[in-house]
Amino acid sequence: MPDKISKLHRTWVVSSVKGRDTKPELIARGLLHNLGYRFMVNGPRNRELPGKPDIVLPKYRTVVFVHGCFWHRHPHCKIATTPKSNQNYWLPKFRENAVRDCRNQKAIREAGWNVIVIWECELKDLEAVAE
Ligand SMILES: [Zn+2]
Repeated sequence: MPDKISKLHRTWVVSSVKGRDTKPELIARGLLHNLGYRFMVNGPRNRELPGKPDIVLPKYRTVVFVHGCFWHRHPHCKIATTPKSNQNYWLPKFRENAVRDCRNQKAIREAGWNVIVIWECELKDLEAVAE
């Protein structure tokens, strides 16, 4: 029975990865759900912790950020390209994002929580992750 259920979820998760409008957050939720974790996506901590984490796992005192590779500057990632034009706009913007992420994650850790970052590109290779 549990096998059947997890297989079903996995099918759903994998098929949603292939969908056009799939949001990385939804894929991450599907994956956690599939793995049997209880989590919150719209609780007070999702709103109150610095950076508004996408997913909160209270039992594990862990938060998950699902980061788009481009905006959050995933190091050495193909998706995290730097536009050739308007660099005066983009570079400070990227720097601000990186500084903000760093500050938020530090503050959450200092409040005694674990921080997990899931990158958008990692979710694109979900079949490998789920193995
Ligand atoms: Zn990436």
